[in-house]
Amino acid sequence: MVPRKTSLLLSILLLALPVFGQQQSNPKPKPRVIVVGVNGMELDIIRPLLLKGQMPNLASVIERGAYGKLRTVSAPNCPRVYSTLFTSTYPEEHGVTGFIVGGITANTNMLKEEPVWSLLSKSGITVGMANVPATFPVMPVNGYMISGMLTRGKNCEDGVLCAPKLSEVMGGDAVYPKSMQAELLKNVGDFYIDCERMPSAADLKGHESEVIDKWLGKVQVIRDQQTKLFDYLLNEHPTNFTFLAQSCEDRAGHWLYPITPFNAGYNPSINNVRQDAFPNQYIAFDKVLGAILKHADENTYVVIISDHGIKPLREFEEKDPHAHMDHEKTTPVIAKHDFADGDDVPGSLFVMGPGVKHDLRLMGLGASVYDVAPTLLHIYGIEQPKQMRGRVLTEIFESSDNKVAAKK
Ligand SMILES: [Zn+2]
Repeated sequence: MVPRKTSLLLSILLLALPVFGQQQSNPKPKPRVIVVGVNGMELDIIRPLLLKGQMPNLASVIERGAYGKLRTVSAPNCPRVYSTLFTSTYPEEHGVTGFIVGGITANTNMLKEEPVWSLLSKSGITVGMANVPATFPVMPVNGYMISGMLTRGKNCEDGVLCAPKLSEVMGGDAVYPKSMQAELLKNVGDFYIDCERMPSAADLKGHESEVIDKWLGKVQVIRDQQTKLFDYLLNEHPTNFTFLAQSCEDRAGHWLYPITPFNAGYNPSINNVRQDAFPNQYIAFDKVLGAILKHADENTYVVIISDHGIKPLREFEEKDPHAHMDHEKTTPVIAKHDFADGDDVPGSLFVMGPGVKHDLRLMGLGASVYDVAPTLLHIYGIEQPKQMRGRVLTEIFESSDNKVAAKK
């Protein structure tokens, strides 16, 4: 007879077998990957901060891994690029071509190609996602999903570049599974799902310093809430694949980029107030990264991705009535990323983990946003589906036949 304790353990083990997707005969643990998305990370701003030692956590990832520019799509913006990252297909193919598609705020129901979280879930990989742009309403995964940018709610009815609180979300679910929402409210609090709306020109006029400081204060509150959320999820709901994202950096850049009097749109009463505001966003991000890295051991892959960069406006852009309309509303925007030529504002990629080359710099624009999903699948030994346009970034691995990837 099997002792009671052993049989109980046996039944727990049987229950723990993956039921979502196909079962693997190989009991080898699945790779653990943490992806950190940063909206609009600009290497022109990051590099001096790295040199000054103000981003020690990112510097440690660079030292232990591979990094470089990430070629992005034309006229890049968050939903357009993130949906490309998810599916490795052209914007016209996956359907999320911008913030507004056919007069409606971009949402997951528009996604016409299978996203990476779905492919991973089907293969029995546990998936956790939080605050990733363009994931509202949330979709079922083999784990959890908390939506990010483009979540609609009170004081943010259209969902575009504003921040509803978790309890004030409307027009769809922000949390999967639904039961997790009460748990998050109880243990993390009623956090803002996306970054703060930028102030309007009218709000700013005559109160520039005050409005700027208040806005930056709110941004930090949101970032602190996000850090608490990420920490909670990584502690209480560990998953094989975790995708966390931040979006306040980009928003600060749009109207607080440190420009000079020669740049288009320069207004000393705004642009002279806090020249450090935008670089400070990355210093603050680095602290968030530090909190995330505490959850990563030498067997964890850490992937930091930026969907695009951000650059000051150029004179001729000011005359284009369609320029930067996505972010502007009435905010005096001085920097943007939806340039017709995406190569003007490449994103960036930082990867470290088992079998990833150390201190490797990827030159040029050889790596693209299309390559992210195939490379993530490769780490799990999953072949990229035919519709994917990108390739596995084999050059970042010690051997092209990645030892850690569970090859079939
Ligand atoms: Zn932006």
